[in-house]
Amino acid sequence: MNETYPQLPPMQTGIRGRCPRCGQGHLFKGFLTLAPKCEACGLDYSFADPADGPAFFVICFACVPSVLLAVWLEVAFSASLLTQVLVTGPFMLLTCIPPLRPLKGWLVASQYFYKAEEGKVVRRQAGT
Ligand SMILES: [Zn+2]
Repeated sequence: MNETYPQLPPMQTGIRGRCPRCGQGHLFKGFLTLAPKCEACGLDYSFADPADGPAFFVICFACVPSVLLAVWLEVAFSASLLTQVLVTGPFMLLTCIPPLRPLKGWLVASQYFYKAEEGKVVRRQAGT
């Protein structure tokens, strides 16, 4: 098995939830659960560990529109707590949940593309 694969940009493969090596197989088997390997090229996805990266981006950026909406409702209309729950709540879910999957795919594909992995201490061998 000596196939070569083109260098696929992570933005192209990860956001669509495709394998970072071949661009054909699926990256996910659930909404956010990674498949064990690519069904097209057999790439083992065990290297992938985006940890809480997708949640970090959602917390920092995707929640901003919800906060602005809640503040605007409060300042402009003195909205009741029930209004906040019924309007801002679903809006927050709509702006925060959908970006998680493409963000996770992008991070996993970037991890593969840039060969990112845990740092290791490299020691010089005696006599070299
Ligand atoms: Zn693949």
